[in-house]
Amino acid sequence: MVEPLPSSVLRSPLASELPPQFDVIIVGAGAAGLYTALCLPDHLQIGLLTKDTLSLSASDWAQGGIAAVTDPEDSPALHLADTLQAGAGLCDYEAVKFLVEQAPECIQALVGMGVAFDRHDGTLALTLEAAHSRRRVLHAADTTGREVVSTLTAQVLRRKNICVLSEALTLDLWMDEVTDHCQGICLLYQGQVLWLRAEAVILATGGGGQVFAQTTNPELSTGDGVAIAHRAGAILRDLEFVQFHPTALTKPGAPRFLISEAVRGEGAHLVDDHGRRFAFDYHPAGELAPRDVVSRAIFSYLQTTHADPASAHVWLDLRPIAPETIQHRFPNIIQVCQRWGIDVFREPIPVAPAAHYWMGGIATNLGNQTSIPGVYAVGETASTGVHGANRLASNSLLECLVFGAQFAHLEVNGRWRSEASEQVVETLEGGSTEELLEHSNRKTSTLAPLTPLQPISKLPSTLADSDKLKMLRQELPRLVWQSAGICRDGTTMAAAIAQVEYWQEEFANLAVSRALLHRQPGKVVALEAIAADAELRVWAETRNLLDVAWLILKSAHFRTESRGGHYRVDYPDVAEAWAVHTIAQQHHKGAFSNTCWSKAPLL
Ligand SMILES: Cc1cc2nc3c(=O)[nH]c(=O)nc-3n(C[C@H](O)[C@H](O)[C@H](O)COP(=O)(O)OP(=O)(O)OC[C@H]3O[C@@H](n4cnc5c(N)ncnc54)[C@H](O)[C@@H]3O)c2cc1C
Repeated sequence: MVEPLPSSVLRSPLASELPPQFDVIIVGAGAAGLYTALCLPDHLQIGLLTKDTLSLSASDWAQGGIAAVTDPEDSPALHLADTLQAGAGLCDYEAVKFLVEQAPECIQALVGMGVAFDRHDGTLALTLEAAHSRRRVLHAADTTGREVVSTLTAQVLRRKNICVLSEALTLDLWMDEVTDHCQGICLLYQGQVLWLRAEAVILATGGGGQVFAQTTNPELSTGDGVAIAHRAGAILRDLEFVQFHPTALTKPGAPRFLISEAVRGEGAHLVDDHGRRFAFDYHPAGELAPRDVVSRAIFSYLQTTHADPASAHVWLDLRPIAPETIQHRFPNIIQVCQRWGIDVFREPIPVAPAAHYWMGGIATNLGNQTSIPGVYAVGETASTGVHGANRLASNSLLECLVFGAQFAHLEVNGRWRSEASEQVVETLEGGSTEELLEHSNRKTSTLAPLTPLQPISKLPSTLADSDKLKMLRQELPRLVWQSAGICRDGTTMAAAIAQVEYWQEEFANLAVSRALLHRQPGKVVALEAIAADAELRVWAETRNLLDVAWLILKSAHFRTESRGGHYRVDYPDVAEAWAVHTIAQQHHKGAFSNTCWSKAPLL
């Protein structure tokens, strides 16, 4: 098993050493951002940004694997059919065809880079996952994401043309107000609000699970890319479609660790506080009903039995399974539960459904272009059309790779490239991780340093606003979970939209918001203390979460049917007239902006 990179070696260049521009800036260093960086033409000077450290992303947490046709008994046509079936009539055919046909080549590329997928008698081992008609999921134990991310990270650190900036939080796109083209980004980095130019900005910021009170996503999944693109006027698509997983560990302080469906397949019972198998009240197959049905059963049950369903749970009892089977099949689940004080051989696991994957996102074409010139999106933040209304298991890491590979064809004209960055790109051979990171830090020192475009000004202390931010971070996900979670209805969503709009106004009136929301493009702002970075990250993520909550609620309210990950109690059936994409776009007119929703045909 691959160990995560030690955070001590993940140092970034000083703000004063940064070049004023890159050819390409990639915002996000999960599987999508890392693979994109490696696929871009290597004569380009690339800035790869993560708001955290390189070792932390949803990609790193991916367990099950990557779907791809590698078995002669399987075929891209079957993978295509399974994906379309899961997508419940909302996939774009050409995008899915592209995904499944390019998949084997991407797997070959990963193997070539050194990703050690599990093997059986020398050939790649494949497992079967729900809704796949063939065994086609490649895995590396149950830590596939970590294996992929670690390998890609090591490759990125060997590349001279890639400058990694950790703990660099992108706040917004830097738009040219005359041309409406993107000219770079505004970011928070080492105590300053900075502006970096780039000919192309690629958003690879991952999902937005943190907008829900219950989620399997890491804390960094706050939907930043979607919110940032929305504010800049990009077309967004199908934001109401969220996949909920029925059984995530639900214990105070513990992450919402996934308890695999295979556990129920082996005979575990889903029970209430009295040991009753309540799932049979909702479906004749009980806990073995389809994933969305079981999620809805648990959610509805908790709604009727608990005062605070947002933090309530039911139980998954493994004791009907023979102990030796548990031992053999679920070592990781045993271990994680043990860490949180649960002995699965003696007691049931507290579980509840959790938001897991966001099918909607920034609308992109096969070349990852968004509707804004110079802005691209890739990975979970993008809506490529491959997932439709529901994602087929293990297609999401694949999407990061297949669409990341498309950047090999990106052309930028290099008009802002400094002479210093016109160096020949080499690949470093060998060297320890520490040496590579040391080298990575030196890469920027050959470039012209960033000079403030205008004098630096100070930002007022943000501490006075922190109580309000804390309240919003707690209350907003609870509201979204209750109103736009597994079961939705128009009246509840309308009330929630009004509440979010009220909170957005309150947020805009915070002292720090007044100082930052009207910042002048190009003007560098220094914070009072480096500690303010953490405060401002909370501020920026709360702003994004408010936008994302509003967008999901409005989109879910707009779609008056039930399909895939979107279930409306007041419109419980699939409606033929809704076999279309939901489009949301913000239009600016002077100081005013207005977001419109419309329908668009499938591609
Ligand atoms: C527990 C779990 C298990 C999963 N298992 C599987 C699986 O088995 N197979 C599968 O195919 N999929 C799985 N998924 C889904 C899959 O992991 C994700 O869809 C995929 O990893 C998303 O990759 P990404 O690169 O788009 O985003 P992420 O991996 O989330 O990376 C996002 C990056 O963007 C950065 N970022 C975000 N906002 C900003 C900002 N404002 N400024 C700067 N940087 C920013 C983050 O720091 C991070 O580096 C799983 C997901 C979870 C949560």
